[in-house]
Amino acid sequence: MAVSIEGQVAAVTGGASGIGLACAKAMAEAGARVAVVDRDEEGLAKACAEIGANAFPVRIDLLDPKSVATMLPQIIDKAGKLDILHANAGAYIGGDAATGDPDAWDRMLNLNINAAFRTAHAVLPYMIERKHGDILFTSSVAGVVPVMVEPIYTASKHAVQAFVHTVRRQVAKHDVRVGAVQPGPVITALLKDWVPERLAALKAAGGLIEPEEVAEAVLFMLTRPRNVVVRDLVILPAQFDI
Ligand code: NAD
Repeated sequence: MAVSIEGQVAAVTGGASGIGLACAKAMAEAGARVAVVDRDEEGLAKACAEIGANAFPVRIDLLDPKSVATMLPQIIDKAGKLDILHANAGAYIGGDAATGDPDAWDRMLNLNINAAFRTAHAVLPYMIERKHGDILFTSSVAGVVPVMVEPIYTASKHAVQAFVHTVRRQVAKHDVRVGAVQPGPVITALLKDWVPERLAALKAAGGLIEPEEVAEAVLFMLTRPRNVVVRDLVILPAQFDI
């Protein structure tokens, strides 16, 4: 049976690329109107053209609180409501704790933690008032177990997990569901930026998965009955060695 979220309005941050693009596409195919939220203007235009009539662009810089504050009003203006927020945007900046670049880490932590939380904060009062909504985060398997050697990325995704687990319990009584998907290594621009030796090591540890696999998991989470929440869903290459 085809999965349907017909009639719903969804927003996917980082929707111009990788996992976000695959999720936005899958949600549109399942019948939702999708706000593709990203700071990359060219990427947004390409993504919306690829997804088709069910998609519209919302250009936001998630690192700028004033810009984030315009996200919900822009979506309501264009689509009349918001049912689903997929707070997906994030970055990967590696380095070990002794020799890594603290400024680069600050930028990554601002996006992976502060911007993700701020995005949820921007829509929660609206969803609570409506007594309806879904907020999903793209965490990582690195948020569940310290699988990565990079401590700062791992710490950022553990923070996402802690946020999800506590906020979920705060807002469940308002019929707002909060959960997260935790992918292992996925073939996207984020990984393509990695040095070849790291990629080779990941492949040796069990391989890589396609963004579409994550999108299917996200749709599964969104289509559970309203009294059921999939809080966590770890999705890995079958032979991933952790
Ligand atoms: P990606 O680089 O392909 O896409 C990230 C998107 O976020 C881009 O479109 C980019 O323009 C957008 N973005 C970045 N900074 C932004 C900002 N300040 N404002 C608005 N948009 C911004 O990356 P991806 O691999 O699809 O990653 C998506 C999420 O999945 C991230 O949270 C990442 O940590 C997580 N994740 C990725 C993997 C993987 O192996 N690729 C594994 C587990 C989790």
